[in-house]
Order: sequence, then C-alpha cells, then structure tokens
Amino acid sequence: MKKLLIFNSGMPYYEDEIFKDKDYYNNPITCQLTPRPDFILLHSVFNEVFDVDCLDLELELGIPGPTRGCDISSEDFLIKGLDILLSKEFDILAFPCHTSGHYLSSKFFAEEIKKYNKDILIVIGGYHPNNAVDDFLYDDSPFDHVVLGDVYGWMDYIEQYGFDIGNNRVIKSNKDYPMPISTPPHKIPYYATKDTHSVGMYLSKGCLWVDKCSFCAEFKKDWVVISVEESLKLVEEIILHSNPQRISFNDALFGQTSKWRKSFLHGLKLLCDKLEWKGYFWIGTRTEMLDDNDIQLLSELNIEVDFGTDSLSVDMLKIMNKTYQPNRYLNKLLETNKKLVDNKIKHRIYVIINHPGETIETLNQLNVFMEKNIDSFRNKYTFISFSSYIVYPGTLSFSLVEKYKRDYGTIFGDLGWWKRNKNQNFYSRLVFPSSDFILPAFQKEKKKFIGFMKDSNQYSYHLWGSSERNWSYYENKQII
Ligand code: SF4
Repeated sequence: MKKLLIFNSGMPYYEDEIFKDKDYYNNPITCQLTPRPDFILLHSVFNEVFDVDCLDLELELGIPGPTRGCDISSEDFLIKGLDILLSKEFDILAFPCHTSGHYLSSKFFAEEIKKYNKDILIVIGGYHPNNAVDDFLYDDSPFDHVVLGDVYGWMDYIEQYGFDIGNNRVIKSNKDYPMPISTPPHKIPYYATKDTHSVGMYLSKGCLWVDKCSFCAEFKKDWVVISVEESLKLVEEIILHSNPQRISFNDALFGQTSKWRKSFLHGLKLLCDKLEWKGYFWIGTRTEMLDDNDIQLLSELNIEVDFGTDSLSVDMLKIMNKTYQPNRYLNKLLETNKKLVDNKIKHRIYVIINHPGETIETLNQLNVFMEKNIDSFRNKYTFISFSSYIVYPGTLSFSLVEKYKRDYGTIFGDLGWWKRNKNQNFYSRLVFPSSDFILPAFQKEKKKFIGFMKDSNQYSYHLWGSSERNWSYYENKQII
C-alpha cells in the first residue's frame, strides 16, 4: 500500500508586527485546533486507499509572530519544517492548502521535495487552489495534480483516477458525494501523542448564502451533512477516547436545516448527560436561523455560539450582500442577543470593518448602533470582536474589484499579497475602502468602536478563550 502524508505547510509569512496590539484583533477565542478539521476529514477519505500519516507544521512549530505566541522566524520555520518533513516516509504528499496564507509555504515545500525525490507524487487541494488554480500551474511546477472542489474533489480524484492520471493536472469534481465522516483523532497515530484538548471537525459542507456574502471564500452552495445519528456517534467516540476540553464544529454554517439542527442539539444534550462530559462545544451560525426552540436547546448545553454578523451598519450590510433587509437583520440580532443573554448562552458578534465601500458615514452608523444598544451588550454572555476586511481570491468581493474601484474609489494595496514573502497579514488588509478614506477620520471612528467594544467586553472577557465553562450549563445543572 502506498504511503500518503497529509501535510499542513503552515503560514510562515502571515504575521506582522503591526498586529501586536491585541485591541486590534481582540479575539481571544481563537485557539489552535488539534486535530485540524480538514485533516481528520481527509484522513477518512484517504484511509480507504492508502497508508496515511499526518504532519501539521502549525502544530509542530506554531505560526511565526509575536501575537501567535511563537518567536520562530519565517526562515527558521521553513528550515526546521523541511527537516521534519524529510524525516517522514511517503510516496504521495497531499496538501490541504486551507487558505491563501498557506500558498507560499506549500510552494516552497513542494519544490524542495521534488528536488529531493522527483518520484514523490505531489497533490494539492483546498480553498486557495480552488480559487486560484493558476498559482499552481507555472513552468516546472512541482504540483503533479491540483484538486478542485474541496473534499469532493479528493473523493472524485480517488474514485476516478486512483491518483494515477497521467498529465491531467487539474481535477475538478462535478459529482455529488455524501458527506464523509471524519476519522476520530484517537484512530490516527499522529494525534495519539498530541494534546487534543481542542478538537475541530466538520459535520457538514456548504452554505446556502455562498453566492451572497461578498467577503466569504466558501464556495459550495448545497449543504450536505452526515446524519444526526452518525454525528452523535462521532462526538461520543471523540469524548470517550480523547476527552477534549472543547469540541468545535467548524462547518461554514452550522445546522442549516432546522430539523437536523434541533435533532442534533437535542441529541448532544442527552449525550452530555449520559457521559457527564464537562467540556464545551463551539458553533458558527447566523442570528436569523435561531428560533426560540433552538435557544432553549442551546441553553441546555455548554456551548459558545459565534455569529458572523459582519456589520452593524445598514449601508455596509447591503454592500456586503449580507441581507436585503438590514434594519430587520439588526433588529433580529438585538432580539436574539437578548434571548441568549436571558438564557445565559455565551455568544460572539463578529464584525468586519474596512470592506470596500466603507466610509466615515458607515463607520458612524456602526458607532451610533453601538451607542444606542450598548446596554444590551454589557453582560457576561455577549462578546464583540472585529477584524479588518481581507481580500481573498475566490470571494465575490475579489471578482468585484473593478466595480468597487469605479463605484467607491476603493484602492487595493496588493491583490496578490499571498505571493509576497513578508507581512502578508498587513498586505492582505491593505485596502483603502473608498475615496472618502482619510486616515485620521477613519482612525477616530475605529477608536470609538474599539471603545464601545471594550466597554461591552469588560463584562464577558474573562469567560472567553479560557477553560471556564458556559455558566448556563452549570447553573442549569446546579453545579454552582
Ligand atoms: S459568511 Fe457565513 S453565511 Fe455567508 S456565505 Fe460564508 S459561511 Fe455562508
């Protein structure tokens, strides 16, 4: 049986000093997932046919840069990473190139491996290849095959070609496959010796809104999910064998259909009671999807809910294609926020600023909204965070670059930032969103927003990104 290595080449160029200020990110809930959800999903697909091993350089070496808590330089990351990679034995090197930030390191390691042994087959898939395939098709490219279409591309690749397809370099899947079930980490030798306190996994793929939200790199519109029974069985196996502190369902959109969502949440509650598990779950969804019954079910779990609200400005919500009815959308956010607070459910409201079309007026709308509603956010359960817009290839906003230039006077600092071997974090966000952009005025509005955010988060900050449990769970169970 051939040996296949699933390899995460890391993001050695993605950090920059400018982001040392934690107020900028203010996102303490981000944490390293072990294993990564794409690894355990691909493992289950490859394991049918190959002898599979894994290597995640982000786990081995971290992400270079002071804010990531890792002081290795980009150069040392690559040198040490190559040493580790060469210590492994494999016939096929498979990159799940998850983001554009992984592009340059994938290229580096693939080129080095081909120099070392040209007979090793090198294949790459993931978001970046899917959205920027030409980046892998240059003269003397070391990538033998580029697989498009996420996990389904890989499934098609195996089913149709068995990794033996001659010169047909780009593989695109048009076929519908059922959602594969991830391999639980304890069955993967690579993770057997790792600290799996925070496990990430996918139960579904796809999102109904993919052709809407302008900044999102998700591309599969049909939502496919494993059955509730299979999902619960997988969670149970993970709890019993790995006992993580956190289980994160990293689906682009958790529980798109009401029936599946409610049935799964109900099943989770029964499972937690049965196993007396004290860890917590994480999901990402949209406010308008949760009804009273969902909130009731969530309140019975120890869970954090992340809302990609994406803007609190009526005009920006329209420009970002987030909704056609922004006032209704924001009212629903306030309504849901209140219900979650009343039910003691931790939740994060995530906002993007600086998207093309942003003006002083739209930032002002954001601040007026915050000022008016700050009392609703001053509590233990709401956490607000933001990030600057990143221009990712493959997103709707990337395809609208010329329109944004014309309509708003947007200036993009670097539309090929992922090919730059330094400061990618900075250049990926270097966007002057409109002709209205005057730095001091933007900074003033941004500072004002950070002030509101700090005001709100001072009540909830200590609960996030720590091992502290959702209070609702404990209070409901009368443990405290
Ligand atoms: S931002 Fe969320 S809701 Fe919008 S397309 Fe992406 S995953 Fe779907």
